[in-house]
Parts: sequence; C-alpha cells; structure tokens
Amino acid sequence: MVNEQKKRVAIIGGGITGLTVAYYLQKEVMSKGLNLEYQLFESNQQLGGKIQTDYSNGFVIERGPDSFLARKQSAARLAKEVGLEKELVYNDSGQSFVLKGDELYPIPGGAIMGIPTKVAPFATTKLFTPLGKLRAAGDLFIPKTSSSNEDQSLGQFFRKRLGDEVVENLIEPLLSGIYAGDIDRLSLLATFPQFHQVEQKYRSLILGMSKAMPKPTKPAKTKQTTKSKGMFLSFKGGLQSLVEGIENHLDEDAVKKETGIERVEKVESNTSLLLRVAMLSCLTM
Ligand SMILES: Cc1cc2nc3c(=O)[nH]c(=O)nc-3n(C[C@H](O)[C@H](O)[C@H](O)COP(=O)(O)OP(=O)(O)OC[C@H]3O[C@@H](n4cnc5c(N)ncnc54)[C@H](O)[C@@H]3O)c2cc1C
Repeated sequence: MVNEQKKRVAIIGGGITGLTVAYYLQKEVMSKGLNLEYQLFESNQQLGGKIQTDYSNGFVIERGPDSFLARKQSAARLAKEVGLEKELVYNDSGQSFVLKGDELYPIPGGAIMGIPTKVAPFATTKLFTPLGKLRAAGDLFIPKTSSSNEDQSLGQFFRKRLGDEVVENLIEPLLSGIYAGDIDRLSLLATFPQFHQVEQKYRSLILGMSKAMPKPTKPAKTKQTTKSKGMFLSFKGGLQSLVEGIENHLDEDAVKKETGIERVEKVESNTSLLLRVAMLSCLTM
C-alpha cells in the first residue's frame, strides 16, 4: 500500500467564508476518511470577521451584517446543520432610519435603494433641503448620462442623476454598506448593472424605478390574514450565533486565533505544488 503523505490545508481568515470552508472540509474528511488535516488561521482574537453582534439592555445590535437572503438556502442549511434551526428568525423590518449629523431621519417611503419613486414622502422629508429635492427632480428631465456599455462609478452615476445631497444623505449609506466600499470607486456595471439598464430603457431613474416596481397585489380574501414572511433571515441572538455554532463544531486544535498570516510562498516539490504559509505569530503548522 502506498503510504500517502497527509495533505495539509491552511484556511486563512476566520470570517464566515473561512469558517464555512473549515466546517465542510472537516465534514468531508470525517465522512470519507480523507487523509487530510486543516488549520484555520485568524489574526483576530475572535472569529467571525465582519460579523459581530453586541448585546445591550436586552437588544441585539449588529455591528456589520444583520441578516441573509432567505431565498439563498445555503446559509439556513448550514445553520440547521450546526443545530441552530430553532434560532432562525425572519427579520421583521419596521421603519428604517438614516443618521444625518446627530439625528435619525426615517427613510422616505417608496425609496428603492434610495431612489425616490413616490412624490409625497420625498417632498415632505426633512432629510434633504428644498434645493436638494429640486436637484433630485432634475432626473426627470436630464438625458442619459452613459452610453450602452460605458462604465462609471456608482457615485458618479447617481450624483449626475440625482445630485450630491440625495447621494450623500441616502444612497451612499444604503449602497456602500452592501459592498463595504466607497461608491465613488465602485463600478456601476459590476455592482448594480440594473440601474444602468433602467437609465438606458427609461432615461429617468425615478420614472424607470417606479415602472419597474411590482404593483401591490390585493391579498386573497381569507378569514384570517397571515403576515407574509420576510425576505431575510437571522438568528434570535444575532448573526454571531452562526459564527459560534460553526466554531463549536470545529476541531479546537485546528483553529488558531491571533495568528495572522504574513505571506504564502510556493515550495518546489517533485510530486506536488506545496504552499508554505508564514505566520505573524509564533504557532507552527
Ligand atoms: C456594514 C456591513 C453590512 C453588511 N451587511 C450584510 C448583510 O446584511 N447581509 C449580507 O449577506 N452581507 C452583508 N455584508 C457583507 C458581509 O458582511 C461579508 O460579505 C462577509 O461577512 C464577508 O465574510 P468573509 O469571511 O469573506 O470576510 P471577513 O468577514 O472580512 O473575514 C475575513 C477574516 O480574515 C481575517 N484575516 C484577514 N487577513 C488575515 C491574515 N493575513 N491572516 C489571518 N487572518 C486574516 C480577518 O481578521 C477576518 O476575520 C455587510 C458588510 C458590511 C461591512
């Protein structure tokens, strides 16, 4: 029998990506008896990366992501596997607010990703000055700002269509959170090609988004009206529960916290390509 050398896998980063990789890799190793071991390296003291939940006065406060799309079933499936099925909850989103200066302002009704589709809530909101509102209304008249395949930054696109004020007070907080980036440096075509398509088709974003909005359907007449489920799922104790749930299933010795990887190098070998990881702290592989 050939004495195969044990394969060693380094997973760099203990955010949700690295944790998921570790969980499913460990599952494969165990179920198929693979000759493989892994180690997960996380530079921080705690796992989870962007996912961080705070608990204060009985409130669950998310410092980063707060939910995941229910229609993409992989996260819920993973949650069930790690024993969190009963902890899953649909987000009950009420009124959302945006912080401007030191004050919270309700997000005007009818805003789709910050784009106004209803007149009254935008006309009456205190989130924008009268001049800012007038500038946003310019979208109804100004020509297309891009040709069919021309890319530009998200910021450039929205600033040209709706003006700086609507972008800075509403669109930027909503959109940059999704990609955790600067909207003046994010590509329109790579992130939100649908807005480019709306402009190409309808010229005005306000008119286009109003037309693209699905019309509200009348609820079927039943004795009992049941509340429809939301689009997003989280956990009673916040997303940190998923991080902890996965961590509890990982081999303790395979998880190295406070161990940053400094570089990854190729190592020549007769049989295979090996990688050597160099750590910032002193643990050995
Ligand atoms: C404010 C905000 C809100 C968001 N809201 C949502 C939301 O509601 N729903 C949603 O689905 N997504 C949301 N996202 C996106 C989501 O948070 C990320 O896509 C996801 O958390 C990324 O996970 P990750 O594991 O790939 O990266 P990260 O979470 O960034 O994890 C990377 C990990 O690698 C570690 N690391 C980095 N370099 C090294 C190194 N050299 N050595 C060792 N360790 C290293 C880091 O410390 C970190 O723990 C949001 C993002 C932000 C910022």
